[in-house]
Amino acid sequence: MSNPKIFLLFLFTFFLTFSTSGQTADAPFDLLITNARVVDGTGNPWFRADVAIKNGRIVKIGRIAQADAKQIVDAKNQILAPGFIDVHAHTENIFNHPDAENFIQMGVTSLVTGNCGSSVTDVESFLGRYEQTPLAVNLATLIAHGSVRSKVLGAENRAPTAEELKRMEEIVETAMKNGAVGLSTGLIYVPGTYAKTDEVISLAQVANKYQGIYASHIRNEGDTVFEAIAEAINIGEQTNIPVDISHFKISSKKHWGKTGETLGLVRAAREKGLVVTVDQYAYTASSTSLDTILPGWALAGGREDGKKRLADKATRAKIVEEIKKTLKDSRFKDFSYANVATYAANKEYNGLNIKEITKRAKGKDKLDAQIEQILEMYAAGGAQMVYHKMDEADVQSIMREPFTMIASDSGVRQFGEGVPHPRGYGNNARVLGRYVRELKLLALEDAIRKMTSLPAQTFGLRDRGLIREGFAADFVIFDETRIADRATFENPHQYPVGISNVYVNGAAVFADEKMTGARTGVALRRGEN
Ligand SMILES: [Zn+2]
Repeated sequence: MSNPKIFLLFLFTFFLTFSTSGQTADAPFDLLITNARVVDGTGNPWFRADVAIKNGRIVKIGRIAQADAKQIVDAKNQILAPGFIDVHAHTENIFNHPDAENFIQMGVTSLVTGNCGSSVTDVESFLGRYEQTPLAVNLATLIAHGSVRSKVLGAENRAPTAEELKRMEEIVETAMKNGAVGLSTGLIYVPGTYAKTDEVISLAQVANKYQGIYASHIRNEGDTVFEAIAEAINIGEQTNIPVDISHFKISSKKHWGKTGETLGLVRAAREKGLVVTVDQYAYTASSTSLDTILPGWALAGGREDGKKRLADKATRAKIVEEIKKTLKDSRFKDFSYANVATYAANKEYNGLNIKEITKRAKGKDKLDAQIEQILEMYAAGGAQMVYHKMDEADVQSIMREPFTMIASDSGVRQFGEGVPHPRGYGNNARVLGRYVRELKLLALEDAIRKMTSLPAQTFGLRDRGLIREGFAADFVIFDETRIADRATFENPHQYPVGISNVYVNGAAVFADEKMTGARTGVALRRGEN
């Protein structure tokens, strides 16, 4: 510094730098992301900005002097977006898999679990587990009707008594007080399927008192999907609770192409002033249990009771007949649409469809033999399945709808185990790669909105889902020209490409395409975050 003029200039710049940083905080920023194209989650077009983070929060967005930060990360002109909020997860076991790598690697920084009628019933101790076992992701939970019901009246196929209903309401109330974000149902599953609408309304009233949401796996997604959507909307209308219809779809060939009508029911409800949204994963196959092929009444009381029914010749014949009728009504000719994801009793069946398995096990594969095979597998403990029952055109028209959120319906994956649905590894990347870049079905900004601010708004996560000063510093950096899912139905254990960095509460959990081991997630309790 031999030139005194340059020295003075240096001093002046030094002074300026610190006086600007003094506007936001005394100390420098913890982290500064430079050279980013920000898609802020509102749906607005991207803009160029630096993003500064301090104490896990976004504190400044704009042109920011680099000297102000302890750490600087160059986004290299990639997209910086809010971390994805996956409102339809099944991650009750997440504390055994705290890195939640399949979610982190697809850009998901917050999860809502407890969907489809199945959750923990003690929300306080569940979310309290963060203290012993921090997670890489943030986590919220719903309180699930099916789990509450089964705690009070097991798998019994009957209405609760007044006293039992009161106990169910109390469990829901305690869960809501302890931070559950709403009530979920799984009205196709045991025991949810044994509940009439009025029972759900009673519990939805309790959730609504605490400003929760009602998220429903509706009673039927196939032949009677219209009635099932109407039931969900009716529950919203009777109680005033906002309704989210989970994994919105049409899984009966008879109704393929009728998304104009199914979405129309939701649009009409919204026009009436009801808050109704839907969520969706970006695939034409669903994943659920083998048990759902059997009629609900045949499953009452649990598997041992179900096996007793199958042992009775006349009852077995009735079950077979109903399975055939349901199949015929939805216009599938056999069970080749049904692939095994995981079958504990015989892992060799994983990845094969029921028709192939029947051929292998029985040397024949006619429909009757396939149904026998299904019943034998049910009796042997059941299986997790992947059902190829949707139409791509329907998936696309649901995705285009402004009130549709993107959510995976996935659990925490254990790398290499079974042949699970690929959505658990690829869902968000698939939307951004296939539907945004390749098919141009959506603008990038709109797809991001469906993964960020819309889920945050819908599930009451008040300081997440946007790149905004004061908001939690959950964000993802990706190359929109390269982002793509790689997980397939045949080979699902593959992480997506194109996402370089994922931050949760200001810390990098995924940096330069590698997990860092950081576990900076927090419990998201209704009303708090
Ligand atoms: Zn479901």
